[in-house]
Amino acid sequence: MLEIKEKSITVKVDTSKCDTCATKACADACKKFARGVLQIVDGKPSVAHMSADEVLRLGTECLACEIACKFDGNQAIQIDVPIEGLDAYLAKRGLA
Ligand code: SF4
Repeated sequence: MLEIKEKSITVKVDTSKCDTCATKACADACKKFARGVLQIVDGKPSVAHMSADEVLRLGTECLACEIACKFDGNQAIQIDVPIEGLDAYLAKRGLA
């Protein structure tokens, strides 16, 4: 599992699904819609070419990698977007 911390989100990549992925769509989407933070190394997405500070500074939190992987990859990416107060709001509305 690769975990990438950005300013307010965490990108989690189940890299065990990446070896059989023919498109590597996540990296293409990152390059096209953001700043190319994700690169493919040995068949899997990686941010090892950057420091954690660079990832924080350059990450745009655009979610493009997740969408690209969902539709053109192997559904390996999940992005956690914590929203303060959401659980209480859903509970109050009976939606939790
Ligand atoms: S698109 Fe998804 S499955 Fe394919 S390499 Fe990227 S993260 Fe892995």
